[in-house]
Amino acid sequence: MRTFAGRKSLMSRIVKASLAIFTIFCIFMLFHLYDVRTIFFENAKSSLERHLNSAEATLNKDMLRMKVVSAECNEKVLNKKSNVSINMVLEEETKDNPGYNFYYLDNEGTIYTPTITTVDSGLYQMVEESYRYRYFTEYFCSYRVHEYTDSTEVRMLGVRRNVKEDKTNEYLLVDFPMQEVFEEEVFYEMTEIASCCIIDKEGHIVVCDDAFVRNIGDYTSFFDAIEAHADYSNEVKRKTTEMRKSLASAQEESFVLSLSGDSDCFVAYRQIRATDDLYLVSCFDDEVLDSMVHSVMIRTFFGGMILFAVIVFVFFGTWRRDVEISSLVEKLAYEDNVTGGKNLNYFKDVAPEIISESREHRFCIYRFDILKFRYINEAYGHIKADRVLVACIEEFNRIYGAKEICVRIHSDQFLALVSNDDTVDMRYHEYLKAVDSRARDFGVKYPIRFRVGVYKLRKEDTDIDIMIDHANVARKSLSGEEKELQAVYSDKILLGMRKVNEIESVMQQALVQGEFIIYLQPKWSISENRIIGAEALARWKRKDGSMIFPSEFIPVFEKNGFIEKLDMYMFEKLCMQMREFEREGIYNSIRVSINQSRILILNPDYAKNIEKMIQRYEVPVENIEIEITETVFLDEKEQVIEIVNRLKEVGVHLAMDDFGSGYSSLNILKDVPFDVLKIDREFFSETNTSLTSVLILEKIIEMARAMGISVVCEGVETAEQVDILRDIGCDFVQGYFYGRPMPIEEFYEKYLRNEE
Ligand code: C2E
Ligand code: MG
Ligand code: MG
Repeated sequence: MRTFAGRKSLMSRIVKASLAIFTIFCIFMLFHLYDVRTIFFENAKSSLERHLNSAEATLNKDMLRMKVVSAECNEKVLNKKSNVSINMVLEEETKDNPGYNFYYLDNEGTIYTPTITTVDSGLYQMVEESYRYRYFTEYFCSYRVHEYTDSTEVRMLGVRRNVKEDKTNEYLLVDFPMQEVFEEEVFYEMTEIASCCIIDKEGHIVVCDDAFVRNIGDYTSFFDAIEAHADYSNEVKRKTTEMRKSLASAQEESFVLSLSGDSDCFVAYRQIRATDDLYLVSCFDDEVLDSMVHSVMIRTFFGGMILFAVIVFVFFGTWRRDVEISSLVEKLAYEDNVTGGKNLNYFKDVAPEIISESREHRFCIYRFDILKFRYINEAYGHIKADRVLVACIEEFNRIYGAKEICVRIHSDQFLALVSNDDTVDMRYHEYLKAVDSRARDFGVKYPIRFRVGVYKLRKEDTDIDIMIDHANVARKSLSGEEKELQAVYSDKILLGMRKVNEIESVMQQALVQGEFIIYLQPKWSISENRIIGAEALARWKRKDGSMIFPSEFIPVFEKNGFIEKLDMYMFEKLCMQMREFEREGIYNSIRVSINQSRILILNPDYAKNIEKMIQRYEVPVENIEIEITETVFLDEKEQVIEIVNRLKEVGVHLAMDDFGSGYSSLNILKDVPFDVLKIDREFFSETNTSLTSVLILEKIIEMARAMGISVVCEGVETAEQVDILRDIGCDFVQGYFYGRPMPIEEFYEKYLRNEE
């Protein structure tokens, strides 16, 4: 089965578009993933530097505050009234500055806290020593409390030295917890990716946040930490040396270090401005970005999957819709809604494929219609008539094979491709019988007969339209009157069709130019051996002198309706001729008959027109005889009987022509007042003078006589035929034995001159 090219191209367009979108997306995603790490690293660097600046500013503020707090407290201790103890000053300060611890050490080793006064010269010694060796900056130092208290808390210590008159020193110590610094909001975002610590000029880690310990380790020296993680290389050495230098000269910088493994570490540091020697350092290695990169990758991947799912969804939606539309279009394009079978489009698409697939196989095309389908339609109704059409398709599909197809073209016109094998005729008859029997089953009693044009395919045939045309030409060559309603296409048939076309193209002009003329053939009385009448027969005499006989043009005119015009024309010419004869006084005893076609007779004005014509030419009505063939009574019998009766009233003679040629029925003689019965020449031909036909003829003549109808035997060619007819009591004859049809002048010379 052929599929629609349109559907294929639409599908491939959809597939191509979907793949293109998806490919673009994948390429975009790859680039995106390649870049994302770098972009993240750069973003993280700049964001870290930004955060570091703010963190340092915050830290700076805290330090400055501590400076102020320690200065104020020292001032208060030095200037206290004598009745106020140091403890009381410190207590007050503690209250005013939550989080701060205040201690005072005098030169005797006494330690004052807000609550107690103890003596521990050890601490005093330590502070003195530290101060001397510049462990402290001017005001600050940091200390790990665990060294002192066995705790991990790291506190920042501010120291104020008061030099006494005896040159001994006293110290005010102020501290606050460093860890809290890193919990401030400003550090929050920074510590999401980075680790922070505060180092001094030598790189000693004063304090670090939890992340630092977790990610880098618990180091006392920042440089030790870096060297432990970085690739051992000159590059690292150079950078750490540079950093040492810049710490010493209080410069701020940032740099990237390659770490062992495949990652980079970004280090940035800022001097805490409130101090001389403390730096806030923040660093991260790009591995911490991996989780972010991964989450982006996962999001991108899922985005891609969603996009892919959307494409797949759209693709399948479109595909399904496309299939639906295609099958609908296919249905509309290929199906016949009356029979439920296929139509001409289907035949034209599929038949050539079947033919080309089986080249060595012989096929033929049937182009057929149902005889008298109009009658079936009117007599049995549309529903039953349609069921006949359905039966034509169904029975075909039942009897013929899979590679044989039958379609309805329109109305009762069918087309079939069948295998032209030895069983072709047998199968055709089986098919015809099957359809007829199906029709009978649902009440269509009128026999189903097909008029079939057959075209036997030749090897060189390629154009299906031409093949169908040939089969149709063969079909059209059948008038429907034939016994065998099957015609096989041949060149002769084509020539015949061409001739028909030629006739049709010139007939009108020929009529106007008087090319149709009357020939007269005598009717003879055997007993009296004299002429008793004549039959007017049409001849078409072309300008070039050639003659065309009625057998060629009458059937064509009967089909196309032109016969109506010709018959009226011939009737008028005959009336004119009869008038002529009478005017010259040469003729008053013979009656001339003329053939009138069925289609003309069925015209409701026919009798009136005949009457008018007879009156116009003042022809004695009893000298005119109208010949009607018996087949006229097949259809519309009642209507024809009524018309014939009206003709009778006009006064013309009536003859039934060609009796015995077809569906003869003596019943008609009972219903119609015929004057003459013309026995067809086939009934009494040379080859058909058997005893039975002679006996039948004798009975017919006898009966007609009894009814007052005279009998004329046509086609009498031999003396033997004359003898037989004489014996069985037939007196009137017409035939070549007595005279052929001849031009009027010749007829006049031969038969009428003596009458004058
Ligand atoms: P038809 O009316 O039966 O005319 C008799 C036909 O038999 C004529 O053929 C005539 O030439 C032929 N015929 C007569 N005697 C013999 C014979 O002994 N042997 C043979 N073999 N044939 C004989 P024609 O003139 O060719 O006409 C053929 C048919 O054409 C007529 O048959 C008639 O049905 C029809 N026809 C002729 N002229 C007209 C016309 O003007 N109008 C109509 N509607 N039909 C016409
Ligand atoms: Mg006739
Ligand atoms: Mg006849």
